[in-house]
Formats: sequence, structure tokens, C-alpha cells
Amino acid sequence: MKAWSRPDVPRVSPDPRRPRVHDTATGELVEVGPADGPARLYVCGITPYDATHLGHANTYVAFDLLVRTWRDAGLEVTYTQNVTDVDDPLLERAEATGVDWVELAEDQTQLFRTDMEALRVIPPDHYVGAVESVPLVTELIQRLVPTGLVYQVDDPEHPDWYFACSAAPGAGEVSHLDREAALAIFGERGGDPERPGKRDALDCLVWRLERDGEPSWDSPLGKGRPGWHIECTAIALEHLGPAFDVQGGGSDLVFPHHEMSASQGRAATGQAFARAYVHGGMVGYQGEKMSKSKGNLVLVSKLRAAGVDPMAIRLVLLDHHYRSDWEYTDADLERATERLAAWRSIANNPTAFPANETVQAIRDALRDDLDAPAALAAVDTWVAASAAVETDETESVTEVLTLVDALLGVRV
Ligand code: ZN
Repeated sequence: MKAWSRPDVPRVSPDPRRPRVHDTATGELVEVGPADGPARLYVCGITPYDATHLGHANTYVAFDLLVRTWRDAGLEVTYTQNVTDVDDPLLERAEATGVDWVELAEDQTQLFRTDMEALRVIPPDHYVGAVESVPLVTELIQRLVPTGLVYQVDDPEHPDWYFACSAAPGAGEVSHLDREAALAIFGERGGDPERPGKRDALDCLVWRLERDGEPSWDSPLGKGRPGWHIECTAIALEHLGPAFDVQGGGSDLVFPHHEMSASQGRAATGQAFARAYVHGGMVGYQGEKMSKSKGNLVLVSKLRAAGVDPMAIRLVLLDHHYRSDWEYTDADLERATERLAAWRSIANNPTAFPANETVQAIRDALRDDLDAPAALAAVDTWVAASAAVETDETESVTEVLTLVDALLGVRV
């Protein structure tokens, strides 16, 4: 499907150093980006039943920093993101609100696109829906049949197809959870550990056969619809190939979602699914994690409608390290708005402090596990120093603000 419009990103002369990011699978900082060829990134997309909240925006801005840092290193980037445009939560919301599920998905995907555009997030090269990927999913499941790792549950009425995660090679390589913890989280995050007829409680659904009133598609596996994990596995393998550089998402996707996709990918190709698994933190509001089910959402579209500058929203997000869990307050927005005004005052003032140290500090910060707060602090220091000098340094202003645009995605 169509992504959103690409922001105009200034090209600066490259600094070839690759970034290091935290890999959940090894627990270490690892350098990411190939020696040659494009860097390949997959980030799990939205299930479009509710508009973009700050938690979503936090994830996509975090991986936008990775895309921008790779580009700054002179690399081409191939970026794939999915849209889970058919799944239980979407169908449930459509049913509850009396809206057609297709229309709900299209409307919310469109709202997401406009939010991403406003935040100057570079769009993926492949923006791919679950519905349009049904043939990819069923082909992948059929490819897995000879491994013995996919099977139909022992349920004469609905013999759905499952993947035997725990039995797969490399099981547990992403999350390293013990069985008890895995079982608890699996149930909380859309899994069905209690489903009768499975070989193992942690096995995950890959193809759900048709039920009354649910959408379904013809396939050699029987008429049905895709499971969530296999959707991402199929889309990533099709558009990036195996052993791509980074699989990204929020930390609530480590298990089961990324664990299952990694197992399926390895089982299908004999190679690692991704080279690194990178996860953003959770954003809270009023004492709890921001989530649709809790109803405590701060929506990007609502902030924009209230007249908040999208660059201030972006600065709110960048002021927190992508891996940290944090709670949004109005003070965050006030601070970001003041910061943007201070930066803009320098843009309109041709006197500035020399740029070299600041340029280096921004580049170093992003290569050090995408440390955006450190990059913002470096810009603040330069802005404060610039306000105190009177030499004519128009070139320095252009140099720093161009890098701020290219690397941090903030157009002053
Ligand atoms: Zn995914």
C-alpha cells in the first residue's frame, strides 16, 4: 500500500562511522549496518483501529533516527513496515462501533500517515498490509510444512494452523524468557496458551480458518486469515530477505511477537531472521502505560489539532532516550516548545558560535545508541553560546541547522 510523503532531507557530506545500538537478543551494544549494500530495516507497524498516540510516535521516531544515522554514514537504506489491517482487535473495534472493518482500517491508516508526515518521519520503502500479503503468508506456511513445525490443531470444527515455536531451532534467542514467564506474557499479549488441541501451550497461530462473520481468504490451507507473527515474518522475508540488519519495535513486542517471527524466519530459511533486535521504551501517561485498552492516550492528531507545532512534538520524543520508559506530562511539551523557540531565534540571527564541535557532538551522540537527548543538549549549548557572540557566522548557522534537520528530523 501507499506509504506517506517523504520529507525533504538535506544531504550532508557523510561520516562513514556506523551506529551502535542495543541488541535485545545479545544484551549488548552492536554495530549495525552492512559493509556494502543497503542497510535493511523492518519495523512492526500499527494495527489501524485507533489513531497514533505518543507511544507509537515514540517508536517510529526512534527508528527514524536509525534510518537518518545510516544515511549520514553514507548508506542506502531499505526500510519495510507492515500494517496489520486484519486482526482480532481491529475486527472487535469495528464490531463494537458498527463501522465496516475495512473502512476503519483505511481511515486509521490514513490518519497515521498524516501524523508521520507532520513529524517528518522518513517513510518505509515498502509499506505493506496484511490483507495484500495473504498469498505471501500462505506460501510461507506451506514452505514450513516439511519442517514438521507447522500443524493443524486437533479440533474437528476449526483445525487452525499453528507453528511449534518451542520446538523450533533457536527458540528463545530473542527474549531469553523462562517458560513460566513466557507463558504468562503470551496470554497477556494476544496468545492462546489455553487453546485445546495444540502440541504445546506456546505454539502460535499462523492461519485461522474461517469463522462466521469474519473476513477470510481462499488458500491451499483452507479459507481463513493470517496470524499476526507470520504476517511480519512473510513480509520481512519477501521485502528484505533473511538476516536483515535490524528488526525494530516497541519493547512490548520482544515476546511473543519478535520471538515467534525470529523462529519462523530461521525455520524457513536456515539463517538468522535479523542480525539485531532493537526495542524502544514505553510511554506512560497519568501513572500507566499509554494504551488503547486503558484509554489514556495522548494522540498526535489531537495535539496537532490544538495547534501544537509538530516539531515540538518531535522534540518531546527526542528528549527521552529511545530505550527508556517515560511518562508524558504537559511540562514536556512546554520545555520542547521553549527549546524550539530558542533554536529558531538563532536561525533568524546571523551570529553564531562555530559549528565544528557541535556537528561532531550530534553525530557522536546518535552513533552511541541513538542518544538523541545528548544531541539535543549539544544543540542547546551551541544555541546558548551563539546568543552570546556577535561575530558574523552565517555558515555555522546553516551547518548546524542542516544537520539538525538531516539527523534529528527537526526543521527549525
Ligand atoms: Zn511485526
